[in-house]
Amino acid sequence: MSSVTIIGGGIIGLFTAYYLTEAGFEVTILDKGDLKDNCTLGNAGMLVPSHIIPLASPGIIGKGLRWMMSSTSPFYIHPRLDRRLLQWCMLFYKAATPKHVAHSIPYLKNLNLLSKSLYLGIAEQHPEIGLEEKGLLMLYKTAAGELEEKEFVHVARQHGLEAEILSLKEVQALEPNLELDVLGGVLFPGDAHLNPAALSGFLLRHLIDKGVQMKSHVQILDFAASGKKITTVITDQGDFAADHVMVCAGSWSGEVARKLKINLPMLGGKGYSFVADNLPAIQRPTILTEERVAVTPYGDKVRFGGTMEITPANSSINMNRVKGIHAAISRYYTNFDCPFPKQEDVWSGLRPCSPDGLPYIGYTQRWENVLFGTGHSMMGISLAPATGKVLTEQLLNRKESVMTDAFSPDRYR
Ligand SMILES: Cc1cc2nc3c(=O)[nH]c(=O)nc-3n(C[C@H](O)[C@H](O)[C@H](O)COP(=O)(O)OP(=O)(O)OC[C@H]3O[C@@H](n4cnc5c(N)ncnc54)[C@H](O)[C@@H]3O)c2cc1C
Repeated sequence: MSSVTIIGGGIIGLFTAYYLTEAGFEVTILDKGDLKDNCTLGNAGMLVPSHIIPLASPGIIGKGLRWMMSSTSPFYIHPRLDRRLLQWCMLFYKAATPKHVAHSIPYLKNLNLLSKSLYLGIAEQHPEIGLEEKGLLMLYKTAAGELEEKEFVHVARQHGLEAEILSLKEVQALEPNLELDVLGGVLFPGDAHLNPAALSGFLLRHLIDKGVQMKSHVQILDFAASGKKITTVITDQGDFAADHVMVCAGSWSGEVARKLKINLPMLGGKGYSFVADNLPAIQRPTILTEERVAVTPYGDKVRFGGTMEITPANSSINMNRVKGIHAAISRYYTNFDCPFPKQEDVWSGLRPCSPDGLPYIGYTQRWENVLFGTGHSMMGISLAPATGKVLTEQLLNRKESVMTDAFSPDRYR
């Protein structure tokens, strides 16, 4: 049986281990943390096949520059003289074109739909992951927001996805306990949500049962190679020999790639979330579109999440951004009196952001036995099962379930 060492035990590493063990590989996961202090536990848990447009898209540059002027806005790039940041921004700017969007849509759509179907299969056997199919509601307050969402609906329908444009009366009927101050909304009935902490708990238990070795608090020091193959991952806890190496290190994947002599542009997109009591009860996952705030109800609780601060990887919390999320709530839900969270109750996570908004999935030409599964930005939960599955198919040299050439980790070589 061949062995695989996975670097990184976030949701992508865990799902990759899930499909690798199913295929009979012997798997070890090495993580620099405790497998919980990553981008998984506090995210919004939305499964969004409707999200087929990459972050790098026309319009985002102008909007981003306007947002940069406000300390509470949903998007921010820490300006500083840093070669990697400048390279990333240049590549992002180059990718934000209609051509790139049109090229990316089928890839993101197919990966998303594959993931959703894999999730449904898992949820049937493991209801504890808390998957609910209530769709995703996009609420807008402004004419500009309405126009943007309607354009989004047009594109989604062109690509065969269901989307319903709803009046204020119709969205109000979907959320009878809330007083909504919006113009209307869009419902994507094919979207779903789950509890990320329950999902991660299920995967960790399942993988331990299947004999996966989990090593936490491991520092990768270097790699040893023979010809075009990596033979050993050298760490502060000893050497790990492996037939194959998978890099699933989230926003730190660029650093791991550099040790492997590969250029993989990657920055962290920091986001925050906090939990409140769900009174009055919000019924379904929602995005407050102009403010880019995600709202996910979990029984008697609701999680509010948002902001995208492009930053070097660090986990400090900027309470001004949290104020921005908090202020958005009462602007859309006028009868939801949400207490402002204490700093220690705010969760932060770093979304692994590639400059073109597409993940890196698959082999790299530099090494014969190294694969990447990273860069899923705002959609890591949504895309994790499909990523794990196609990486496993690539290792087995089988036909992949979806096309992946746009996700090549070599695209910035
Ligand atoms: C506020 C917020 C809301 C979100 N909501 C959603 C949502 O609703 N739906 C959705 O699909 N996505 C959502 N996301 C995005 C999603 O959370 C991420 O895309 C996903 O968690 C990334 O997973 P990952 O495994 O790639 O990275 P991570 O979770 O960061 O895991 C990477 C792991 O690699 C380890 N690691 C790093 N470097 C090394 C090293 N050198 N050696 C060993 N280990 C290493 C880290 O310790 C970590 O455990 C949200 C994100 C945020 C911030």
